[in-house]
Amino acid sequence: MSFKDLQLNRPLLRAIAEAGYDNPTLVQERTIPLVLDKKHVITSAQTGTGKTAAFALPILQLLYDKQDTPKKGKKIRALVISPTRELAVQIDANFKTYGKHTNLRSTVIFGGTSIEPQKDILTKGVDILIATPGRLLDLHKQDVINLDYIETLVLDEADLMLDMGFIDDVKKIERLCPEEKQILLFSATMPFKVEQLANTILKSPERIEVTPTSSAAKNVSQVLYYVPKRNKVELCLHLLRNTIKGNILIFRRTKFGVDKLEQTLINNGYKVDTIHGDKAQNLRHEALSKFKNGYVNILIATDVAARGIDINDLDAVVNFDLPNVPETYVHRIGRTGRAGKTGFSYSLCSADEKPYVKTIQQLINVQIPIEEEHPYPLDPKAKPIIHKKQGSKYKKGRKGEGSKKKKKRWY
Ligand code: AMP
Repeated sequence: MSFKDLQLNRPLLRAIAEAGYDNPTLVQERTIPLVLDKKHVITSAQTGTGKTAAFALPILQLLYDKQDTPKKGKKIRALVISPTRELAVQIDANFKTYGKHTNLRSTVIFGGTSIEPQKDILTKGVDILIATPGRLLDLHKQDVINLDYIETLVLDEADLMLDMGFIDDVKKIERLCPEEKQILLFSATMPFKVEQLANTILKSPERIEVTPTSSAAKNVSQVLYYVPKRNKVELCLHLLRNTIKGNILIFRRTKFGVDKLEQTLINNGYKVDTIHGDKAQNLRHEALSKFKNGYVNILIATDVAARGIDINDLDAVVNFDLPNVPETYVHRIGRTGRAGKTGFSYSLCSADEKPYVKTIQQLINVQIPIEEEHPYPLDPKAKPIIHKKQGSKYKKGRKGEGSKKKKKRWY
């Protein structure tokens, strides 16, 4: 199938050709006709499948076909809600790429940066708004945003949105839009919470599933290293020196872990940057640009900060910590091995993470090959190190038993 078969109009076809896309991806092939048909749609697809264009292209076409005279001032007619700022920025960039030969305008608003410039652009008028939930509600409250003319509402990365606690905000935003509108819901996974949300706000939706997780990341060569927790840093350095090459994304579970590993790698002469939720927006943006432009070849990230970000040309993914949610593993490794290239994923598993390997393997239906030839093998009998909470000796009474026995009472 070609983009022409999807009945897209000339300005869009021109922009698509300039972006270097030859044919629509599967998710685009299936989603675009339904969106053009004004259907409610639920698409389960991961980042990397071309899902952004799957909603951006038909939205641009629908708006283009039904343009008001510019004199009336632009009204926001399509609203895209995104859980993270990075993803929101990326979606806006896609709208701008595909809409460059139309006079449709889009803008992006997100928290953590100054609100005034965003207000200025909004008052000038846009057709398409991409927003994170908090900032959108904030600006709506200040009367800068009018959602009365919304025709299409997109909820992108719905599963992440709910994981991040945006459920009430999303419901509120949906209610602020007109009753008669088209809703498109995109989600990498379809947990019960997402189904529930979809059932309450979408009307007889069409469903599209593009990435069955069992065939996840076919182009990725996966390998697992069992290693004591205390040796993970050494093993990581060993692998960076000897095995892992190119552009590398390392995942850690916590922000603290990300910062700590960054310091270690810098001290060992590597060019590294990080993205996590505690970093200011401009610093995260800078880190991403440095990675994309090749100033650094290693990026360390938490899942939430990295989700949805389009990082091309990734040679390897390192799971420094294994994720406790198996779908997260699929998301992580799916960032490499794109566009027909082979990618590599290296997972470091300590004794306490062994149960995660089991659930991951169940989900992907693949036994991840184990590499035993490395300098820090884990004793197969090693028990997880459990840090027992040491109850404070002061909690139960003012004095510990020992001190009570030893001391003579003064009374
Ligand atoms: P997404 O899943 O929307 O994050 O898209 C992943 C990447 O695929 C982005 O870099 C897009 O620019 C690119 N892309 C989207 N659609 C196509 C297409 N039909 N052909 C080639 N690349 C595409």
